[in-house]
Amino acid sequence: MKVEEESPRIDVETAVLSMTEDQVGESDAKSASTVFEVSQLNVYYGDFCALRDVNLDVTQSEVTAFIGPSGCGKSTFLRCFNRMNDLIETARVEGQVRYHGVDLYQSEVDAVEVRRRIGMVFQKPNPFPKSIYDNIAFGPRIAGAKKSELDDIVERSLQRAALWDEVRDRLSDPAYGLSGGQQQRLCIARAIAVEPDVVLMDEPCSALDPIATARIEELIAELKTDYTIVIVTHNMQQAARISDRTAFFSVQVTDAGRRTGELVELGATEHIFTNPDDPRTEAYITGRVG
Ligand code: ADP
Ligand code: MG
Repeated sequence: MKVEEESPRIDVETAVLSMTEDQVGESDAKSASTVFEVSQLNVYYGDFCALRDVNLDVTQSEVTAFIGPSGCGKSTFLRCFNRMNDLIETARVEGQVRYHGVDLYQSEVDAVEVRRRIGMVFQKPNPFPKSIYDNIAFGPRIAGAKKSELDDIVERSLQRAALWDEVRDRLSDPAYGLSGGQQQRLCIARAIAVEPDVVLMDEPCSALDPIATARIEELIAELKTDYTIVIVTHNMQQAARISDRTAFFSVQVTDAGRRTGELVELGATEHIFTNPDDPRTEAYITGRVG
């Protein structure tokens, strides 16, 4: 359902073009299906190391889930994929996050364009204080979509987010009038309205009731045919239900008593939940530590 784009824009490919031949050669993605390659990533807040030495790949058209105890750096890590940590003054990212072979943190890359391609949905639904229609049209308008195209984009995005039938007759009503679950689907529709490649979700169901949660989970299963999805969830059953691969993060307490997050293991979801390689994963999924 990709909408044809007419407006030119600076994008990650342009950033690649502005690199030297050598850099492009070097930064070729591992394979066409590898969307992200993270290597030796450390994230600091001031001098506090929140996440240490993370190495991980994310594969196209899969759902990758991040699980682990509170404070182990899942949200911090997720924000590295679309440079949202840039917006936190004390945050500093070391190492590499390559997106289709391009290092997202090199200076030529436009962080705003990165966030258009790599959308995000947050824990608490956060619609704009605008109409349902304008919530969806907002991003495409900024990206230069013509007025005549907007109705179509709004309809398709809402359909794709399984919300159209519930809101088609009240598009000009305020988004705040929707239920929590509907607001979250609206936020997903808003994220996909700008034609992203990846949708990052940070505990998108934790403020929702079980029925609304089930709808979002169904939606994620449908969206993964068109988008690569990376989801943080504190709900292990949810990770087991919806993801193809699962990464388990944990917290290492240093001698100085500081708590640094680390990736323990990444694997096929079934493997992680039935026969993990690391005893720490086993302890977490069997509920012996939390
Ligand atoms: P999770 O999402 O796994 O619960 P977070 O990524 O939110 O973990 O946090 C990881 C660590 O980084 C925690 O110790 C947290 O207190 C710290 N942290 C998160 N955000 C900030 C911030 N903006 N400034 C300073 N420390 C932060
Ligand atoms: Mg978090």
